[in-house]
Amino acid sequence: MADAKKKESKYDLAIIGAGPAGLAASVYASRYKLSNAVIGPELGGYVSTTHLVEDYLGFETITGMDLAEKFSEHAKKFGAELIQEQVSAAERQANGRGDWVLTTWTDRKIRARAVLLATGTKHNKIGVPGEDKFEGRGVSYCVTCDAAFFKEKPVVIVGGGDSALKGALHLTEFASHLYVVHRRKDFRAEPTWVDRVKAKKNVTFILENEVTEVLGDGKVDGVKLKQPFKGKDSLNVDGVFIEIGSTPDPTLANAFKANIDDGNFVLVNDCQRTSAERVWAAGDNTTNSAMFRQIGTASAEGSVAAGDIYEHLNDPKAKWADKGAVSESTPVQTVVTD
Ligand code: NAP
Repeated sequence: MADAKKKESKYDLAIIGAGPAGLAASVYASRYKLSNAVIGPELGGYVSTTHLVEDYLGFETITGMDLAEKFSEHAKKFGAELIQEQVSAAERQANGRGDWVLTTWTDRKIRARAVLLATGTKHNKIGVPGEDKFEGRGVSYCVTCDAAFFKEKPVVIVGGGDSALKGALHLTEFASHLYVVHRRKDFRAEPTWVDRVKAKKNVTFILENEVTEVLGDGKVDGVKLKQPFKGKDSLNVDGVFIEIGSTPDPTLANAFKANIDDGNFVLVNDCQRTSAERVWAAGDNTTNSAMFRQIGTASAEGSVAAGDIYEHLNDPKAKWADKGAVSESTPVQTVVTD
């Protein structure tokens, strides 16, 4: 009992997610003198797993790791408490001020007047035989984390967006040869990344093709292709990197009863309010910013949310539906609280 009590802490704002949206919100919240905690297992979120960032204003080129560190240091210096844990359940107090009480995986209780869901997205899988079996043993979803394990080895990367092409550029620095397999001939990625990968000597693009199986016996030794390439229906590789986009995990949005769309993105209004009272959402997991998922848009959404949270908490007459309600078109899914 004493232990549980010791672990309980109270804030004006609990920010779930330590990526650019959550950390930007924290900086603004601190300046508004709202006590706040940023809760998330990985400081910087996806930014910390990105090789290079060259499109965030003020930083011509910076590694994702360095930028993530700058973000979290900034938030910490301005007053955030950074809690490197995962939230597993949420409950609204039925009496008193109607605070939210969050429970983390270690059973820590965090009480807050307002909550910001800045939980980002999770990597998608291609869903082919061998993918799960070799995950972490040759199949990777994080180039920055795992590229160095494939020094002087042949590898393949799947995808045609910014993540895949940026990842490909990083992999060319390690791999003996890199195959980029993409299902179309046009890329979603910024043309500058495509040009830079094309300029590398150790890369082969295999377009309008797909990986249909990860092959190996104990460890990865190849991938099967949907269409033959140069007369062969497989590639000999030691590593398989998958960068085919990402989708929000709906579990926490459901726990807060915040409406989500068919793709699990949290529905928000212009002020980042969700359908759940005193719950805001910001960053890659929301329907705002025209779904243009960038560091700049995530931090902008976090900043907008913090401004609105401050106004809302300081106006005793404020109603949640003020400033426009969130669309009710998508039904709330099953609630998961524990
Ligand atoms: P994305 O833009 O959604 O691209 C995913 C890629 O994977 C697409 O080329 C897609 O093919 C392909 N794909 C999807 N499902 C597939 C499947 N089942 N099998 C084979 N290929 C599949 O995802 P992302 O690259 O992770 O980027 C996500 C967001 O973050 C984007 O908004 C992106 O701009 C942003 N981002 C930005 C940067 C940056 O430096 N600015 C870096 C990383 C991410 P199709 O093209 O055929 O759909």
